[in-house]
Amino acid sequence: MADKFYLNQVQFNAEISRCLNCKNQPCMKACPAGCNPNDFIQYAQNNDFENAVKIICNANPMGQTCGLVCPDKFCMKACTRANIDFPINIPRVQATILEKHRNNNKETDIAYNNKQIAIIGAGPAGMAAAEKLASNGFRVAIFEASDKIGGALNMIPDNRLPFEVIKKDWDFIAQNKLISLHLNAFVTNPEHLLQRGFCAVIVASGEPNCIDLGIEGEEFSISYLDYLKTPEKYVSSGNIAIVGGGAVATDCAVTARINGADNVEMFIRRRVCDMRITEEERKALIKNNIDLTTMTKIKKITKENDKLILYTCKTHFINGKLEEIEGTTIKRPNFDMVIKAIGSSAPKCDDSENIFYAGDCKNGGSTVVEAVASGKDVAQKIIEKF
Ligand SMILES: Cc1cc2nc3c(=O)[nH]c(=O)nc-3n(C[C@H](O)[C@H](O)[C@H](O)COP(=O)(O)OP(=O)(O)OC[C@H]3O[C@@H](n4cnc5c(N)ncnc54)[C@H](O)[C@@H]3O)c2cc1C
Ligand code: SF4
Repeated sequence: MADKFYLNQVQFNAEISRCLNCKNQPCMKACPAGCNPNDFIQYAQNNDFENAVKIICNANPMGQTCGLVCPDKFCMKACTRANIDFPINIPRVQATILEKHRNNNKETDIAYNNKQIAIIGAGPAGMAAAEKLASNGFRVAIFEASDKIGGALNMIPDNRLPFEVIKKDWDFIAQNKLISLHLNAFVTNPEHLLQRGFCAVIVASGEPNCIDLGIEGEEFSISYLDYLKTPEKYVSSGNIAIVGGGAVATDCAVTARINGADNVEMFIRRRVCDMRITEEERKALIKNNIDLTTMTKIKKITKENDKLILYTCKTHFINGKLEEIEGTTIKRPNFDMVIKAIGSSAPKCDDSENIFYAGDCKNGGSTVVEAVASGKDVAQKIIEKF
């Protein structure tokens, strides 16, 4: 696989040799899944990759995926080395260890405890819950509406997360014969699964709805969900507008550019410093010549002669509150596509007696490692209850 995803031997040695082996292990405390970088790096320093792999996979069954996409706000932010020069690139060290040394010989000979659990959704939360339950003797059936595993991971562009990596984590999890996967299996009501004999159901169905702009001409925009699922189906040249300034909007902008757009302009209501994106994402915006139009709100979209026109106005902060500045509306003509990427939502859900919610459908749009942690937590609740 392309070297850009993993560290070469020289880079790997350089990174692990910078670990200070801190006694209080701040990196572990900062990892939502409780993975211990200090320990796996110590094992790697001693060339004991079998134990390094175990440390990662026991804490995080989606460890290789996380190694490529975990943002720098967790373990890296806590890394003490940042006080001397710069933090260790823990995620890449983790991904490199699994890519080179995981040999898929997971302990699979686990006795069945005669209890069956159903999981709705084969995203990171569902997969992590399945791994933990099956490792504790539960038989687990995962029902996934689409024709592939991964959930929202499939919307992360290939240049950041190839499907092959998601599959490697899944293949590692699926070695446990107590787990079965049912694709193209949309579940209309979790109660039906309880009636079929499952003693509990975990709903890990993610956040399926893109938040609307709520403006006139909304119908001329497309959602990031539709765009990122199949970007090749949409306009690949001309001028593309992205509404939003977060990580998903950044993925849309970079993808549009890579797919041939002449100009990509992001419309952001706040300032550049308010954009919740990582250093890598900032660099990707610069590298791909993406225009940022900040402190700007889209008020209306119209269509004339196959071209889209945006009506935008400026915004400012008054007592910390973002407001429109009157009299600043202008017409921005000549767009070929408008992609809205201002967030997603899921219907509100609360656990009931034997139905438990995990991941983004419970906690709102988060990160892969947080979805993994949530899936593990719910699995632990079920292990204790049954
Ligand atoms: C474009 C994009 C970029 C991202 N980039 C990053 C990143 O760089 N780093 C990071 O950490 N996180 C990133 N994320 C967030 C991360 O992907 C999500 O937080 C994570 O996937 C949530 O996991 P989940 O298991 O809760 O839900 P999902 O991954 O959404 O999985 C839910 C699954 O449930 C299935 N499902 C839904 N309803 C049903 C039903 N009724 N029956 C059966 N199946 C059903 C869906 O088909 C889906 O497969 C990104 C997300 C997006 C959209
Ligand atoms: S899973 Fe992510 S946050 Fe946790 S140690 Fe690994 S790279 Fe860091």
